[in-house]
Amino acid sequence: MPLLLLSLDDTLLDRAGAFRAWATDFLYRIGAPAYDLEWLLSVDADGMASTWDVAEGLRERYRLRIPAIDLVDEVRGAIMDRMRLSPLTACALAIAEDAGWVPVVVTNGETRQQEEKLRKTGLDRYLADWVISEEAGVRKPNPRIFAIAAERARMRLGGAWMIGDSPEADIGGAAGVGVRSVWLHRGRRWIESRYAPTRTAEGVIAAVAEVLASR
Ligand SMILES: [Mg+2]
Repeated sequence: MPLLLLSLDDTLLDRAGAFRAWATDFLYRIGAPAYDLEWLLSVDADGMASTWDVAEGLRERYRLRIPAIDLVDEVRGAIMDRMRLSPLTACALAIAEDAGWVPVVVTNGETRQQEEKLRKTGLDRYLADWVISEEAGVRKPNPRIFAIAAERARMRLGGAWMIGDSPEADIGGAAGVGVRSVWLHRGRRWIESRYAPTRTAEGVIAAVAEVLASR
C-alpha cells in the first residue's frame, strides 16, 4: 500500500477562492475601489503571509481603527465559513483509498486553524492522518515533515506520491525525499529549474487520476 500525500490549502480546499470572496466583500464594505483587490491578494500572497501582516496592511492603507486582532479573527472566520469540500474531491479520495492508497495531508500552517478546516469540511473522514507544520515543528519543504507523515501512517515513503500546488513546498519537498509528485498549476507556468513535478494537473481530481494510473 503506497502513501498519497496531499497539500491542504488550494489542493483539497479552495483557500484562494475563499480569500478572494472575503476580500472582494471587505473592500466593498469599507468603500475601497474594487481594483484594490489585486493589492490585497498580493499582500496575502496565497496564504503565505501571516494573517497579522494582512490585518496590519489593511489598517495602514485604509487608516482603519478596527483592532488588528478583530481583523485577524474576521479574515480567519470568513475563510473558514467559505471553505467547502467539493463532493468530487471527496469522491476522488474515496476511490484512491479503495484502490489501496493511504491519503495523508501534509500542510504548512497553524494547528488549530488547519484542524478546524479538516473537521468542519468533513475532509478528516477521507484521510488516514495529517501532519501540520506547527505541531510537527518543521515546515514543507523540509524532508523531516514528509518522514513524519510516513511515520504517522506507519508506512514508508518509497512508492509515495505528493499532490500539491506549491512549487517549492510541495514539489521541491517531494523531490527532496525522492517522492513522485503532481503539481496543480492553477494557471501558472512551471519556472523552477532545480526540480520538476513528475506530472502536472489542472486540479486535485485529475491529479488523483494521474496517480491511480501510475501503478
Ligand atoms: Mg497548498
